[in-house]
Amino acid sequence: MKLKKMMTLALTVALGTCVLAGCGGSGDTKAPAEGSTGAESGIPTVTEGKLIMATNAYFPPYEYYEGNEIVGIDAEIAQAIGDKLGLEVEIADMEFDSIITAVQTGKADIGLAGMTVTPEREKNINFSDTYATGIQSVIVKEDSDIKSIDDLQGKKIGVQLSTTGDIFASDDFGAENVEQFNKGNDAVMALTQGKIDAVIIDNQPALSYVAGNKGLQILDTSYVEEEYAACISKENPELLEAVNGALAELERDGIIQSILDKYIVAD
Ligand code: GLN
Repeated sequence: MKLKKMMTLALTVALGTCVLAGCGGSGDTKAPAEGSTGAESGIPTVTEGKLIMATNAYFPPYEYYEGNEIVGIDAEIAQAIGDKLGLEVEIADMEFDSIITAVQTGKADIGLAGMTVTPEREKNINFSDTYATGIQSVIVKEDSDIKSIDDLQGKKIGVQLSTTGDIFASDDFGAENVEQFNKGNDAVMALTQGKIDAVIIDNQPALSYVAGNKGLQILDTSYVEEEYAACISKENPELLEAVNGALAELERDGIIQSILDKYIVAD
């Protein structure tokens, strides 16, 4: 019930337009592996021979900056897909809210952003097969009186704009209690500064933020379980098929698992 309501709301926010950082690219490009067929692959992409990946690089360990370079699980999966398809990967960093629009309007080929598959988003965009799972987590201060999900009633909750955490929080605790931030770490910063009482965000970035900021903890409870997949324009079924083919091989050969294991430490 809760999930269904959440999915309905997802449609509204997934329709967001390119704002703030816009849909421009960061120009972070990596060549395909040696011996690949390059543009000969014949897969239609925005720029021939390239796979432009839209992401929001503030979602560790899926995507984050290491110096000027965007690294993480999604960056490596995109590179592995690009290698398989003979496409040069270019990463375009933008607000999370802009990713689906960028892919829909031909500014990027693929969205890889720890993006949850929801039926509402599926009305606007195709999703590849899933490659990972996530769970919504609640971050609070160590000395917080919030001990359970129920304690969130009437509290100020920070979320990342247009994410499933945003939709869930607004649905369950009222939009008036939810503060939307463009980046997950801005929400966490507001929490450390006492401007909000909690942050609802996916579990892996939550772990990373708690590790990087003193005095925070994750509530020993979780919300919705979600599946992550790449989003691709409905106008480009060839790319969807090619990406699913590449993902299947990467899955079969244990590459996806080794990328996940590299960034996610088992507890
Ligand atoms: N998994 C969440 C969603 O799809 C958050 C993704 C993100 O912030 N990059 O809404």
